[in-house]
Amino acid sequence: MEHAFDHLIVGAGMAGSAAALALREAAPDATIALIGGEAHRPYNRPPLSKALWKDGKEADIWRPIDEAGATLQLGRRAVSIDRQAHVVRDDAGDAWRYRKLLLATGGTPRRLPFGEHIVYLRTLDDYRRLRQAARGGARIAVIGGGFIGSEIAASLTTAGCRVTMLFPEATIGARAYPKALAESVSAYYLEKGVDVRAGVTVEGIAAGGALALSDGSLLAADAVVAGLGITPDVELAQAAGLEVDNGIVVDTHLRSSDPDIYAAGDVAAFPAAALGRRLRVEHENAAVTMGERAGRCMAGQDAPYDELPYFYSDLFDLGYEAVGTLDARLETVEQWVTPYREGVVYYLEGGRVRGVLLWNTWDQVGAARALIAAKGPFDAASVRGKLPKA
Ligand SMILES: Cc1cc2nc3c(=O)[nH]c(=O)nc-3n(C[C@H](O)[C@H](O)[C@H](O)COP(=O)(O)OP(=O)(O)OC[C@H]3O[C@@H](n4cnc5c(N)ncnc54)[C@H](O)[C@@H]3O)c2cc1C
Repeated sequence: MEHAFDHLIVGAGMAGSAAALALREAAPDATIALIGGEAHRPYNRPPLSKALWKDGKEADIWRPIDEAGATLQLGRRAVSIDRQAHVVRDDAGDAWRYRKLLLATGGTPRRLPFGEHIVYLRTLDDYRRLRQAARGGARIAVIGGGFIGSEIAASLTTAGCRVTMLFPEATIGARAYPKALAESVSAYYLEKGVDVRAGVTVEGIAAGGALALSDGSLLAADAVVAGLGITPDVELAQAAGLEVDNGIVVDTHLRSSDPDIYAAGDVAAFPAAALGRRLRVEHENAAVTMGERAGRCMAGQDAPYDELPYFYSDLFDLGYEAVGTLDARLETVEQWVTPYREGVVYYLEGGRVRGVLLWNTWDQVGAARALIAAKGPFDAASVRGKLPKA
């Protein structure tokens, strides 16, 4: 079957749905279609590791899409792009002609080479699978001590599961938080009843289904969930000859190396002027804002994506927002109101602030962005006290 649309969006996720709404507003008469690999209408992913474990209301996760007046083709994957003919083909053999194309394909979880039963928490179906297994009292192994691992471990524990966390680093969040904060987070998880096993990797599955760990022990669990990061879904772009470098390379107007093809969200590597380098992030705020800007640009508006995204996370009763680069290898300056409960961490490099962690410190994202954009120079003494701004 053949279809023809002014605007075609591949990926009906957070960025894709935001783009469809923005497109409709900017181009009321245009025809718009979304092709989505999942069977579901667009939804918010962050609740899969947070809110859904508190109230369990799936009704709250759906993103608005009806107002976009777009054709939604769900349960279909785009498999090729003919850039010359401006045609995308899907896995059912349909051809989709476009004037402008947006790639908002997100990413795929990194997987271990064993353990068919391991849940990689990315989609609503992954969440539902885990939910089935995670009845009160169930023993759940969480592999990974990064953002997804620490969030889902907290949510499962709060939901009454007995959780063991396994990760190779010395502490939870070791790659992002300064050492003392990371140690305090690990201690906090222990206090909350999580069996935290640092410095351990999963080597395979033993007879009987237990996890075989690098310290020689076995761990039996009713379910296993892993958060090992994602790889951006760039195959379509790569096969079509678009420039790809840890993500589809786009300019400030989210245009790829082909002026009729745009990219947004987790899959896009965009120029972050404030950091002086290209960035690819896996943040809700970036996905939704980039999607919105891409939609407007596709409709012919001048709508650059020129802001630094922020990220947020909830860990039991702790919560934070973060802007810029959170890399524990940078020089970190800690400023606590209450140690490891409320404060700000600055990440410095070359006399500039590269990242800000707002730990239980709210309404400071704008001020943190401004601080990262400021020329400085900053050092530990001069950066202290810059936030929070009144
Ligand atoms: C459990 C979880 C918790 C999170 N929590 C937070 C948080 O607290 N804070 C935060 O900032 N961010 C969080 N994130 C990250 C955030 O959800 C992502 O950054 C955001 O979803 C990215 O949006 P996207 O549109 O780029 O990709 P996605 O939302 O993943 O959408 C991409 C869609 O494209 C589809 N697709 C891929 N290839 C094809 C193809 N060839 N054809 C058709 N369709 C295709 C996929 O199936 C998918 O549905 C979380 C993510 C997860 C998984």
